[in-house]
Amino acid sequence: MIELTPPAGTTRYLCPLECGWHHDDPPPSPEDVRDVAPDPDVRNFQEAVSSIAGKAAMRRLEQTETALKQHLATHTAPAEVAAIEQLLADKGLAGVNWRP
Ligand SMILES: [Zn+2]
Repeated sequence: MIELTPPAGTTRYLCPLECGWHHDDPPPSPEDVRDVAPDPDVRNFQEAVSSIAGKAAMRRLEQTETALKQHLATHTAPAEVAAIEQLLADKGLAGVNWRP
C-alpha cells in the first residue's frame, strides 16, 4: 500500500512509468555518517566534515539510483512502450510523428 504523504523531509521518487511504485529517500540523519571516514588527505576539521558529508550524500544518491534501476528492470519493454504511449495520449500527443 502506498502512503499518500511521505514523512516530512522525505524525497519520494515515483516510477516514471506511473505503475505506482515509489522509493522514499528519508531526510538526512546522523546514521548516514556513522561508518563514513573522511578522505585521508583532509587538512583540517572543516575539510573532514565536508568530506564525510559529501561521501554520505553520494552513498544516498547511489542507493536511490540502485533502487530505481532495480525497479525499472522489473518492467518489460512492451510495458514501457505502452506506458509511454499512454503518457503521450494523456497529453494529447498520441500519433505525433517525432521523427524529422
Ligand atoms: Zn514501475
